[in-house]
Amino acid sequence: MIFNNHLPITKQVDKRILRRIFRMVGRYLNQNNSPDTLVLNYLDPDEMRKKIDLKINNEGMDNEWLIKALRKYLKYSVRTTHRNFSNQLFSAFNFPSFVGEIIATLTNTTMATYEAAPVATLIEQELIDKMNHLIGFKTADNTADGIMVPGGSYANLMGLICARYQAMPETKDKGINGIRFRAFVSDQAHYSFKKMMNVIGMGTESLTEIPANEKGCMKTDLLEKAIEQSLKKGETPFFIGATAGTTVYGSFDPFREIAAIAKKYNLWLHIDGAWGGTLLLYKNKKKQKLLDGIELADSFTWDAHKMMGVPLYASFFLSKHDGLMLKCNAVQGADYLFHSTENTTLDTGPKSLQCGRHVDALKVWLAWKFYGDQGYSDMINDLYSKVNYLKKTITKNPWFELMTDPQYFNVCFRIVHPRSSIDMNDMNMEIRDRLLHSGSYFTNYSVLQNGTVFFRLIVNPTSTKSDYRDFLNKLISTTESILKEKYLPDHSAHIFETAEDK
Ligand SMILES: *Cc1c(COP(=O)(O)O)cnc(C)c1O
Repeated sequence: MIFNNHLPITKQVDKRILRRIFRMVGRYLNQNNSPDTLVLNYLDPDEMRKKIDLKINNEGMDNEWLIKALRKYLKYSVRTTHRNFSNQLFSAFNFPSFVGEIIATLTNTTMATYEAAPVATLIEQELIDKMNHLIGFKTADNTADGIMVPGGSYANLMGLICARYQAMPETKDKGINGIRFRAFVSDQAHYSFKKMMNVIGMGTESLTEIPANEKGCMKTDLLEKAIEQSLKKGETPFFIGATAGTTVYGSFDPFREIAAIAKKYNLWLHIDGAWGGTLLLYKNKKKQKLLDGIELADSFTWDAHKMMGVPLYASFFLSKHDGLMLKCNAVQGADYLFHSTENTTLDTGPKSLQCGRHVDALKVWLAWKFYGDQGYSDMINDLYSKVNYLKKTITKNPWFELMTDPQYFNVCFRIVHPRSSIDMNDMNMEIRDRLLHSGSYFTNYSVLQNGTVFFRLIVNPTSTKSDYRDFLNKLISTTESILKEKYLPDHSAHIFETAEDK
């Protein structure tokens, strides 16, 4: 096998290296199943700099270095496919999508035109059709639209751009020109909306965050009030962003009610289903109620790189309005790229904000086609059974307090102690940091507005109920150690009784 070198110079990559790298990959994946493998080797940045020779020199390096560098990279990177990784909304990826990512790189191309990416273009179209059908955007009477984008944040940006164009098409060429646009999301919505309000020139202050109820769902009466107020001030409301699966609690907004308000005020309704979109694949009527009314929206964000187990990124922007994306994004001056040939209607470049666009579709398609709808439904069923296990165990145990009844795969809870002299916010943070620094567990936390710190555990496909039991026990034993060390050195014998008496 000959490895074509990119640089026409004397330095050759030894072809046997590929076999060694594949062996290394196999070992790495196997290690995740061993109980001795840490989820990360935590080092602070100064120590890490000492481990890795970062500087690029004049002469370059040899073949052996390449192997060593990769080994080190793997050693000090976080194992997001590890059972004890539940820090992010993505975790383990599946094999078909993993090889899909490798093959996409092997055939390295851009999604700009059908010419340049014939198979991938059709694959992407098929995925978009399937998703639009599931959402209810694509029907017998409606051809819908969509595009893959680098991340859910970016998909939310696409929603804002389409909404602005729909409200005032002249803003595409003239800019917002002093128009005081206003957008609405809940205070549990993803922060990307705020960032993207900056990007589209309306400013972060033109986004109103509507309070959510104790379950994390938008309060629709307050939404309507806020729209009325905005109109009274002479502003131009144009966008409501609802969320299917909020980032912290995993909550679903009441879409049908919000859609009625969007209709009444003629506003674009975007649903951010970056996290919760995958629930559409669950064949369970009761849970599908969480998504009731989504077909009434104008656009939708869906990240396959979260719960569908596809490597980052694999995000979709889906729209009910076929052709609108093209109208609001196409510009003159790209004739060198977009030729008028018979297949130009399949070119995705003109409606995209990117020029070069990575082939993200292959990995999603390989995985979905391989497992089928049923495979994903079964996976979600298994995830819910683990959520229920955690919920039951946490509710029963006096050391823990559940923050909210989980709707999705976010289990939010905190460690409690009856003694008011113990700062449980510090305590929860310290427990989390100790587990992280020891490399045993990598779980996230969040903070309520009143300062309450809590764990946000994302239930993942690779962890078992017994892994979660071990984790909860580890939390308790770590709490006990901290109590002994810092708070109650003389009362160690009574601590546990106190907690259990509660
Ligand atoms: C993760 C997430 C996003 C951001 O998606 P990225 O792909 O990380 O850019 C947006 N909205 C919600 C609700 C999310 O959970």
